[in-house]
Formats: sequence, C-alpha cells, structure tokens
Amino acid sequence: MKIIVCVKEVPDTTEVKMDPEQGTLIREGVPSIVNPFDAFALELALQIKDEHDDIEIVTLSMGPPHAEKSLRETIGMGADRAVLITDRAFAGSDTWATSYTLSAGIKKLGGADLVFVGQQAIDGDTGQVGPGIAQFLGWPQAIFVRAVRNIGDNEIEVERITESGYDVVKLGNPAVISVIKLPKDPRLPSLRGMMKAKKAEIAKWGVADLDVEERNLGLSGSPTRVMKIFSPPKRKDGEIFEGEPAELAAKCADLLREQGIV
Ligand SMILES: Cc1cc2nc3c(=O)[nH]c(=O)nc-3n(C[C@H](O)[C@H](O)[C@H](O)COP(=O)(O)OP(=O)(O)OC[C@H]3O[C@@H](n4cnc5c(N)ncnc54)[C@H](O)[C@@H]3O)c2cc1C
Repeated sequence: MKIIVCVKEVPDTTEVKMDPEQGTLIREGVPSIVNPFDAFALELALQIKDEHDDIEIVTLSMGPPHAEKSLRETIGMGADRAVLITDRAFAGSDTWATSYTLSAGIKKLGGADLVFVGQQAIDGDTGQVGPGIAQFLGWPQAIFVRAVRNIGDNEIEVERITESGYDVVKLGNPAVISVIKLPKDPRLPSLRGMMKAKKAEIAKWGVADLDVEERNLGLSGSPTRVMKIFSPPKRKDGEIFEGEPAELAAKCADLLREQGIV
C-alpha cells in the first residue's frame, strides 16, 4: 500500500512580517519549518506503517528548492522517499493551482492508496488544498480526521471530529484524508532516520516532468486575486476584574451601562 503525504514548507510564523506596500509575506531570511499539521499527517501515516506490512510512505511537496530540507526531515521521521515539485513556473500558485500541480505529482507517482494532507497550512491557512486534490483526482475525502480505525485494500474507516463529537466515516480507497492536530506530538527524527535522510536522493520534478497544462500553473494560472492583505489594528489591552461572582456581575453591569451597551 502506498501513502503519499503532502508536506508544505512554511515560514516559522512567529517571525513572519508583512510587506505593507505589496501586501505580501516577507519570506526572505525567515526560517522555514515543516507545516505542523503535515507533521501530524505524517505521524498518522507512520502509525499505519508501524502496524501493517508493505506500506510505502512518500512525502510530496511543491515549493522552492530549499523545501528539500523539510523533505529530508520527513525521511528522518520515517518516510521512505520524497519528491519535490519545483520550478519557477509554479511560483505564485493559489490553492487551485497548488491542488492541480500536486494532483499531477500524485499521478506521476503512479497514484496512491491514500493521500494524507494536513488540516491547513499555517501560512496560507485556507484548508483548501486537500479538498482540491480530491476534486482533481476524483477521489472521496474526509477532513478533520483524528484517527484511522481500520484500513483495508479497498476501504478505510476514520474518525472525523465534529462540533459535538466525532463521526466514524468509511471511504473507498483511494481517498484523501485531511488530518488535524493529534493528542501526541509527531515523533522526532531517529538517529538512523537522520543518517538515511542525509544520504537520500530527493527527486525533483519541474514542469517538463509532469502532465500539466502550463496555462494552469503559477500566478498566471491562479484564478484567485488578492485585493488587499493587512494586519488588523491592535486592540486595547483588556481589564481583568477579580472578586466574588455577585460583585463581578455588578461590575460588568456597571461597565455595560457606562458604555451605553445596555
Ligand atoms: C494570487 C496568489 C498568489 C500567491 N503567491 C504565493 C507565492 O508566491 N508564494 C507562496 O508561497 N504562496 C503564495 N500564495 C499562497 C498559496 O496560494 C498558498 O500558500 C497555497 O496555495 C496553499 O494554500 P494554503 O497555504 O492555504 O494551504 P492549505 O489548503 O491550508 O493546506 C492544506 C494542506 O495541503 C497540503 N499543501 C498545501 N500546500 C502545499 C504545497 N505547496 N506542497 C505540498 N503540500 C501542500 C499540506 O498538507 C497542507 O497541510 C499565493 C496565493 C494567491 C491567492
């Protein structure tokens, strides 16, 4: 069984700055990390590999050449191999073009039994790429997945969280599974894994390697247009009241009256 885990390299968000003129993220000089939700997706795939024989895990990323570092990290964690889709023609892709390109990469890999993605990327934050891949491949999908209950050659049973609890969902394979933050942190790269990662050959594919139409790629192939990006103005610090419940309720009521809210 082959599981492809889509991994996006993202800027370490605590250090991201915006360009106020361009309205874009300043990525230069910002350290990059594996998108944390993708590390959880890989962890879930690795748990399946721990329990079943003959599972191959391939990590797949679309990004600039330095995303190779993140892919090596995934091999250190236990992925068997990794592929980086990288070409200037992919720069500026929106979620539609990203899903299109990744699904072409999945086809080039000969398809898969399962594709795992993270719930969302912590920079773009849309959560659209997993569903986009499922749409391009014509596969069923489950989102907000926290656990895999059963896995067979033709079917997978997963737990999908909802606002009030969780659903158990059965899907036919192949399928796309979008994984949430798991209760336990993803495993760290092992020493053996790190040695393997250091030597691993990371396949790099450009436009010429994929069965894609160039008009669907990169910024020019992206139907989304960003009109304006801005950080919301900082709110004033709040005030913390302490005391007995009745006293606090009276204070709140006074405050609401003062503000003319009631
Ligand atoms: C007009 C426009 C221009 C843009 N230009 C740029 C740009 O120049 N550079 C740039 O970095 N971003 C750019 N973006 C942002 C880019 O569209 C998104 O970052 C990207 O499409 C993924 O969407 P997301 O981050 O919301 O991922 P989500 O949908 O939140 O990701 C969900 C999951 O999908 C998978 N996934 C997402 N992206 C990838 C990937 N690249 N490789 C592997 N797996 C992935 C991961 O498993 C991830 O957890 C641009 C967006 C727009 C609208």
